[in-house]
Amino acid sequence: MDCIFCKIINGDIPSNKVYEDEFCLAFYDIAPQAPVHVIVVPKIHIPSANDITAENSKYISHIFECIPSIAEELGMAQAGYRLINNCGRDGGQTVEHLHFHILGGRTLGEGLI
Ligand code: AMP
Ligand code: ZN
Repeated sequence: MDCIFCKIINGDIPSNKVYEDEFCLAFYDIAPQAPVHVIVVPKIHIPSANDITAENSKYISHIFECIPSIAEELGMAQAGYRLINNCGRDGGQTVEHLHFHILGGRTLGEGLI
């Protein structure tokens, strides 16, 4: 499958890893949009938020269980951070493997767009 995040998960493409376990991988975004910009992906190919189901949602809940410790590791837990998921064309999704952006390291604006 020609999926860049599956290739990162498989180790075919290198990444700067922040956290990894059996179900998810977190790595630094190659084009950071904040002082700290990390991407968290499930270790199965779910194309987008539109494809979350009762069968695969445990991967998503697991990511959210990991986020507090990832944020702590990144030094952002206390100051705060932003979680983003872009879904589909209008949502600005460019990589069709479901992922969550963790952005922080400075005070971000209050707006969402
Ligand atoms: P999105 O636009 O929400 O689909 O986000 C895709 C993100 O993946 C962008 O922020 C890209 O900078 C990032 N990205 C693309 N290729 C890589 C890569 N090889 N390593 C790390 N981040 C990547
Ligand atoms: Zn994939």
